[in-house]
Amino acid sequence: MREIITLACSECKRRNYSTKKDKKAHPDKIEMKKFCKFDRKRTVHKEIK
Ligand SMILES: [Zn+2]
Repeated sequence: MREIITLACSECKRRNYSTKKDKKAHPDKIEMKKFCKFDRKRTVHKEIK
């Protein structure tokens, strides 16, 4: 079952990305390094509800 999740920047807390994940393969919250256009650098983006 793939669900749409939202990724928020851990520095400015903005919700920059949405993606899909397989909750069976990744039951824990995921973190991804992505470019934040507000911080103008790559930051850790964390899954939020
Ligand atoms: Zn940011």
